[in-house]
Amino acid sequence: MKTFPMFLQMQGRRVIIAGGGEQAAQKCRLILKTEAAITIIAPSLDPELSDLHGQGRIKWSAATVTAPDFADAALVFIATGCPAADASLHVLAKSVGATVNVVDQPDLCDAITPSIVDRSPVVVAIGTEGTAPVLARQIKTRVEEMLEPRLGDLAALAGRLRDRAAMRLGPRMRRDLWRWVFAGPARDAHSRGGEREAARMIKEAIDTASFGASNEGTVALVGAGPGCKDLITMRGVQRLQEADVIYYDRLVDPEILDLARRDAERVYVGKAPGCHHWPQDKISGVLVAAARQGKRVVRLKCGDPGVFARGAEEADALNAAGIAYEIVPGVTAASAASAALGGFMTERGTCDTLVLATGRSEVAGKTPEWLNILHPGTRVAVYMGVGAASNIADALQQSGLEDHVEISIVSRAQQADQTIARCCASTLVDTIKTKDISNPAILFLTRPHVGTAQHQMAPHAVLAEA
Ligand code: SAH
Repeated sequence: MKTFPMFLQMQGRRVIIAGGGEQAAQKCRLILKTEAAITIIAPSLDPELSDLHGQGRIKWSAATVTAPDFADAALVFIATGCPAADASLHVLAKSVGATVNVVDQPDLCDAITPSIVDRSPVVVAIGTEGTAPVLARQIKTRVEEMLEPRLGDLAALAGRLRDRAAMRLGPRMRRDLWRWVFAGPARDAHSRGGEREAARMIKEAIDTASFGASNEGTVALVGAGPGCKDLITMRGVQRLQEADVIYYDRLVDPEILDLARRDAERVYVGKAPGCHHWPQDKISGVLVAAARQGKRVVRLKCGDPGVFARGAEEADALNAAGIAYEIVPGVTAASAASAALGGFMTERGTCDTLVLATGRSEVAGKTPEWLNILHPGTRVAVYMGVGAASNIADALQQSGLEDHVEISIVSRAQQADQTIARCCASTLVDTIKTKDISNPAILFLTRPHVGTAQHQMAPHAVLAEA
């Protein structure tokens, strides 16, 4: 970030606008939304500014500007319409250390005005550091649609009731209360115009401490997707934002943790292959213990929590402890890898059976279990399969399927350093070596129907291969 968003205190402060034309009027309109005292410094005013001056809403000085005029101002806007005059006023304002915005001259700006969605006291500011104002406006339009017009009044009502809640409820209950207020019937009532009804509901909830909150902890086994921030589900994000503590895995994109509350505890319980720092029963144990303390627990797993994620063991432990849990699905690595290939995991008439298998259970010299069901029209997605590549190649060769199976490999699917390779059984080991493919990777083994044209998994999209 070259610029950092902050909300400036404007109550009782001065804002100076140098210039009396349309550009100055635009800034004036913006600042009139605040409680700052506006002074326009200009030899003359356009009709709009003149009108505002006539109404006593702004001050006006036609005198020659001097440095002390800018001293102690919360903000200085320079908008004379004349670049040379703007530049010399900028020097003057900087000589007293003012925070300056020179209209249309980003190089002379200490501060940039954002696109604003105003539901005061709820204010959303959108900035693109001057790179894409049109995008900022598009985002503003979407946020405008998202936030009901009366939301600011509801926030203000909540603000007035904060002390009442603080007197009667502890911190955790208060968090539950406000979550209930902003996601439940009180907000619905308020947005329909029922301000009094909403106020009554919230007061009653505070006084009786009943708003669907409970002191029991919960656990959500959440799928984080294949390791990039934008492939987690919206429900997953919601659970992250509600969480008091998050136990996360090795392959989870660290940026996903930014979606959680800032004060949520984050605990890494990653298991690198071959070195189990956190044995599974210890992980299950901490989930149970945290939930027993009444915490909202998220167990964040890469991909989908139901695919090779040892979710069942954690669920068993939670069941045994009588703790409620929820499973929030995620985009599993095979889906991510298939999409990265520009293909589809199943295709009518070509591949009607899909098997998810793990290379970890493969023992050298032993036939992989999926081999018996690798009939024509079947595709096997092998997870954790890189280390088992030579076993897989041997098994395909020994069973006579070597020439009937197409192989696609996707390493770090949907990540910046994604790698894609295609080969056959006889070239599998070499391909992995020469392309330097490592885990996490998915191996797709596809046995097309007899008679279908040689079919590589990727005919549907143009791909940039690594
Ligand atoms: N629950 C996960 C799987 C966990 S097992 C899921 O549903 O995806 C870990 C294995 O998943 C890795 O060894 C690799 O085979 C696969 N994997 C995870 N993320 C991947 C990615 N971004 N690209 C390719 N494979 C991935």
